[in-house]
Amino acid sequence: MRRCIFCQIVKKELPSTVVYEDDQVFAFEDIDPKAPVHVLIIPKKHIATLMDVPDQEETLMGRMILVAKKIAILKNVHHRGFRLVINCNPEGGQSVYHLHLHLLGGRGMRWPPG
Ligand code: 5GP
Ligand code: ZN
Repeated sequence: MRRCIFCQIVKKELPSTVVYEDDQVFAFEDIDPKAPVHVLIIPKKHIATLMDVPDQEETLMGRMILVAKKIAILKNVHHRGFRLVINCNPEGGQSVYHLHLHLLGGRGMRWPPG
């Protein structure tokens, strides 16, 4: 998916502020932050939505959550609290079709979300 903006960010063909990177997972600052801390955690390989994650990818999905935990510590929101969000498909509010986990923190989160 050469046209996918997040694939281009992973390949560093487009700039981003990198927060974390390993062999499978990439994390970077959201360009339009919705909270003082807003990091996107994505698989390096292109998967369009949560519904496209194969059942065999348990390890990758677990890795994304554990990377979020590391980043919460790095951003010092782990004690105050934070929120992880995956928007899926149009009614879920997904706008970029490369799977991503939002880590939001640094302010009180409202419930229910809009
Ligand atoms: P979604 O609405 O799909 O759940 O979230 C997509 C997120 O990607 C949004 O929060 C948006 O601000 C962010 N985003 C879109 N384009 C770019 C970009 O080119 N660079 C970065 N760093 N974030 C982006
Ligand atoms: Zn992609």
